[in-house]
Amino acid sequence: MNSISNSACYYATKQEGKDNHLVIHFMYDRMTYIEVKDGSRLVVPDNPTIGYIEGDGIGPDITKTTIQVVNSALEAAYNDSRSIEWKKILAGDEAMETTGKHLPQESLDELKRCIVSMKGPLTTPIGEGFRSLNVTLRQYFDLYANIRPIKYFPGVPCPVVHPENVNMVIFRENTEDVYSGIEWRYDSEEAKKLRNYLNTEFGVKLTDDTGIGIKPISRFRSTRLVRKALNFAVDNSRKSVTLVHKGNIMKYTEGAFKDWGYQVAENEFKSKIVREEDYLKNKEEFKDKIVVKDRITDNMFQQVLTRTGEYDVIATTNLNGDYLSDAIAAQVGGIGLAPGGNVGDIHAIFEAVHGTAPKYAGLDLANPTSLLLSASMMLTYIGWKEASKVMEDAITQCYKEKKVTQDIARLIGIKELKCSEFGQEVIKRMVSS
Ligand code: NAP
Repeated sequence: MNSISNSACYYATKQEGKDNHLVIHFMYDRMTYIEVKDGSRLVVPDNPTIGYIEGDGIGPDITKTTIQVVNSALEAAYNDSRSIEWKKILAGDEAMETTGKHLPQESLDELKRCIVSMKGPLTTPIGEGFRSLNVTLRQYFDLYANIRPIKYFPGVPCPVVHPENVNMVIFRENTEDVYSGIEWRYDSEEAKKLRNYLNTEFGVKLTDDTGIGIKPISRFRSTRLVRKALNFAVDNSRKSVTLVHKGNIMKYTEGAFKDWGYQVAENEFKSKIVREEDYLKNKEEFKDKIVVKDRITDNMFQQVLTRTGEYDVIATTNLNGDYLSDAIAAQVGGIGLAPGGNVGDIHAIFEAVHGTAPKYAGLDLANPTSLLLSASMMLTYIGWKEASKVMEDAITQCYKEKKVTQDIARLIGIKELKCSEFGQEVIKRMVSS
C-alpha cells in the first residue's frame, strides 16, 4: 500500500532483563531508505522512503495532488510490487512556525538520509543570513546540475508558431557564477578595500559608488556539469550538446567554461561525439554521433526561436541557464509546465520551477503540472521509468483533451479544473504499461 507518513512509526516490545528490569526496544521507523553502493550507485528498494517538502503558498495543494498521482502511476505500472513511503520534511513557513527555523538541521539530516526528495516552492525569507532556501539546499547538498527538460504539450496555447519543435534539456550549473553570493554594497568596507586593492595592484579604476560582485567559474565545476550533460545525451540517444556562454566578453570565466566543455567532450567522450565543424563537412559519416557545438548567449536566445529544432541538450553557466530556461519554457506555454531537478553526484531534489504564487494559496486553483513532471523526472532518476511514462502520457492526454487548470483555461476560454480535479483527470487517463 502506498502511504503518506508524517512521523516516524515505532513499536515497543517488552522483555524481562536478568535483573527483571523492563527493557523497551524502540524501532523508530520501518522505512526503507535508498542506499548508495560503490560510492555512486543507487540501490533502490521496492518501497523506498522519499522525502517531500510541501512548500509554501500553493505548495501544499500541488504536493497533495502530486503524491496522489505518483501513487496511482505506481499502481498502474507495477500493481502492488512497488510503492513509495512518503516522508514529510519540514521547511519554509511551516517549519518556522513549528521549530523557529525555516530550514532546521533535522530537515537537512532527513533530506540527506532520503537521498532523493521532492520539493514544493518556498518563500524566500528576508533577513535570516541567507538569501534563498533553494540556493541553500543546492549548495548544502552540492546539487550542481539544475536539469530542466522543456517540451511541448499539444493543446497548450503558445506564443510561437511551431512549439512542437521545442524538445530541449537544459543543464544549468547550480553552484557558482554570480549566484555564489560573493558581493558587496558600494558603500561597504569590503567594497572600498577591494576597489583600493584593484586600483593599487592592477590599475583598475572604479568610482566610489561602485558595488562589487565576483563571478567565479572553475574548471572542476564546469567540467562535471558538462560531463553530466554529455552522459545524459549518450544515455538518451540525443543528437547534440550545445555549450552556451558569453566568452567573447568574459573570456576567463564564460570563455573558459566553453573551452573546458570541449575538453571534457574530447577527452572522455571521443568515440561518441563530433565537433560541429567536422560534422558539417561530412554529415553522413557522423550521423550517429552527438554533435558538440557552442553558441554565444545572446545569439542563443534568437537561435532557440529561429532554429528551434537544431537544439537539443544545452549545458551552460548559472545565470545564462536561469534566463534561458524561462525563455524556452515561455515558447511552450510558460514555467507553470516546466519541471526541474537539482542533481548532484548522488543526492537529488526535484522541484516545481515556479514560485509559491501566494494569491492562489489554499484555493486549490494552482496548476500542479510543474511538480507532477518533476516527480516524473524523479521516478526516472530512481530507475522507475515505466511509472514515469504512465504519468507523462496521462498528463499529455489531459492537455490534448483540454482538461486544464485556470491558468490555461482562461487563455482558451474554457471552464477550468481545480488543482485536485486535474490530478483526478490525470489518474483517470493512466494506462498500465
Ligand atoms: P510565482 O510564485 O511563480 O508566481 C507568479 C505568477 O505566476 C502567479 O501569480 C501566477 O500568475 C503564476 N503561477 C505560478 N505558478 C503557478 C501555478 N502552479 N499555477 C498557476 N499559476 C501559477 O512568482 P513570484 O510571485 O515572483 O514569487 C512568489 C514567491 O515564490 C517568492 O517568495 C519567491 O522567492 C518564491 N519562489 C520560489 C521558487 C522555488 O521555491 N523554487 C521559485 C521562484 C520563486 P497569475 O497571477 O497570472 O495567475
